[in-house]
Amino acid sequence: MLRKYGPFNLERFVGDTNTMKVHDLNNEKNECGIDFIDLESIKTFARDRLKTAEDNHFGHCPHCISAESYEKHINYN
Ligand SMILES: [Zn+2]
Repeated sequence: MLRKYGPFNLERFVGDTNTMKVHDLNNEKNECGIDFIDLESIKTFARDRLKTAEDNHFGHCPHCISAESYEKHINYN
């Protein structure tokens, strides 16, 4: 579920700098625990820019982003 308030600002891909995992809020699961991430640990990536997450050494959350879709986003952005 996208969140309008800062620091999310309706961005789809949200990284947690504590765990270095990036989540897809359009496919969010309870296991993601988005609401438990400290707001100061949130780093958003502009729409569909998972490549930027990869460049910043983030991995994908196994619950909301499959390895297959992560690879696809990285290679086609
Ligand atoms: Zn997730």
